[in-house]
Amino acid sequence: MATMIANDCINCGACEPECPNNAISQGDPIFVIDPKLCTECVGFHDYEACAAVCPVDVCITDPNNIESEEVLIARARQLHPEMNFGADFESRFRKGQGKAPGAPASAAAPNAPVPAASAPAAAAEAAAVSELAEADVNYVELPPIDSWNIPLRCYKCNQVHEQNVKNFTIGNVIFCPHCHKSTFVRDNLNYHIRTLLKNSYEKWDKEQAEFAARRERERAEFLERRASEAAAFEERQKKDLEKIRRELDAIGDHYDAAGKPYKKGASFSWG
Ligand code: SF4
Ligand code: SF4
Repeated sequence: MATMIANDCINCGACEPECPNNAISQGDPIFVIDPKLCTECVGFHDYEACAAVCPVDVCITDPNNIESEEVLIARARQLHPEMNFGADFESRFRKGQGKAPGAPASAAAPNAPVPAASAPAAAAEAAAVSELAEADVNYVELPPIDSWNIPLRCYKCNQVHEQNVKNFTIGNVIFCPHCHKSTFVRDNLNYHIRTLLKNSYEKWDKEQAEFAARRERERAEFLERRASEAAAFEERQKKDLEKIRRELDAIGDHYDAAGKPYKKGASFSWG
């Protein structure tokens, strides 16, 4: 699961019918999301339907359970075998960055201080980049193929001597440095060495390329998710700012000013 409901849920129930996977249910004390059923709406929407309707923005990404688009669409296919998602399925990873269509644009209260736009998103992304850069892999380099030496045991004196791999061409004569007995390289030995090195080098390159590609893909997904989270958080802060502005305005409108005719039960003071 990557979506979870935070403790501030007010149990309004608005999210439950929106879930295409029936992953949301009333829990105790708040609504909960079943991680085995949630696909972050991948396969159905390019945003998270529960988050789109939640009035208090508590459907959030679970930072302890990050899942890739690949995993999520596989889950959707497993949950809905009757559906054909195709290759061009809806996904918050592809369009809309997890925001519902028509989601209200952020607008601070007219006389509220204006927050630095997208600064939190940029900061989060920068932090993520540096975090990931530190974790970069130091790939082990393969030595040049001709630099390998192979220990050879002399059939005559039974001592071991090392020969460079280049000496193992078919028919080449190799002398034991200890007893000077000679032997020649048979084609099966040459074939065995060439095959072993060729297969090993090819496997090495293939695995390294696949590993790097997977890390790059996960890195891009991670950064995209971080940016999306940061933008959502910024949005929420702007809404909170508006709320503070409205509450302060309401106080100013309703308090009993000094000198105003006395009205029982209503009072306000800074002290
Ligand atoms: S993100 Fe989508 S699939 Fe997951 S619980 Fe919310 S509505 Fe359901
Ligand atoms: S919409 Fe939000 S507040 Fe309402 S039940 Fe769902 S998570 Fe809780």
